[in-house]
Amino acid sequence: MVNSSQGNDALLPTLLMEFRPLFEGSLTGQRKLVFLGTGTSSGVPMLGCNCEVCCSTDPKNQRTRPSVLLRFPDGDLLIDTTPEMRLQLLRERVGFVQAIAYTHSHVDHLYGLDDARPFPKLLGKPVPVYCEEAVETDIRRVFSYAFQESSHRFPPGGLPQLEFYRIGPGQTFSLLGQTILPIRLEHGRFQVLGFRVGNLAYCTDVSKIPDESWPLLEGLKVLVLDALRHEPHPTHFNLEQALEVVKRLRPERTYFTHLSHQFDHNVTESVLPPGVRLAYDGLTLEF
Ligand SMILES: [Zn+2]
Ligand SMILES: [Zn+2]
Ligand SMILES: [Zn+2]
Repeated sequence: MVNSSQGNDALLPTLLMEFRPLFEGSLTGQRKLVFLGTGTSSGVPMLGCNCEVCCSTDPKNQRTRPSVLLRFPDGDLLIDTTPEMRLQLLRERVGFVQAIAYTHSHVDHLYGLDDARPFPKLLGKPVPVYCEEAVETDIRRVFSYAFQESSHRFPPGGLPQLEFYRIGPGQTFSLLGQTILPIRLEHGRFQVLGFRVGNLAYCTDVSKIPDESWPLLEGLKVLVLDALRHEPHPTHFNLEQALEVVKRLRPERTYFTHLSHQFDHNVTESVLPPGVRLAYDGLTLEF
């Protein structure tokens, strides 16, 4: 079930009122979102699956793990580092990024981080990483070799070099000349972040939008939203639930992501309502 609540206006935080003018810009074309990956955690095709979608030769049915690149005039912000991060950035001819922000620390969103080793040399400093405390804790555990006493003895590029910046839901932060609003989303029993920049929001890995987050998603021109499969799932919206969210928020355009092998791109798009599309790897939007 999609979470719904009455009287959202009463909950409208002063923060949103304060920042509302920032969300009223038109689509300037100066900012771009590149879908690096649009697949679910197993990717599509799935290992060992011979279904029609997994065997499809349509590139839009070949989905790497979910991530987007936000390209601003002042630089690039990578959201999540999937196991295919290196290949995704090579495909888009992006050699390094100015910063990384995390939605959460599940394997399909984090484990490509080691491939960010060359970035500090190109940036001239450690890679700025924007995340919640729980994500930093996981990064320090999973990549513990990068945080040991002896790690400074490794040559440049030998280990990830990161500098953490704490972010939290409902608290905007400035980066690369942009105002970015993290938004709390529920992903089963996990708490994750979506991100809003101007009139675009990226909301992956979500099965419930908490009451306080609905007002932060009003007035969108572009919504990117999790829609895993047809049947309900404990930690992701299914297609029906994602469409209910679209009905309630009424963004101008919606792109579904974190897609499983249940969705053939063309077949599914042919039954979606106007303004709602499936994202695919390499799709680029201006906003
Ligand atoms: Zn995921
Ligand atoms: Zn399959
Ligand atoms: Zn997840």
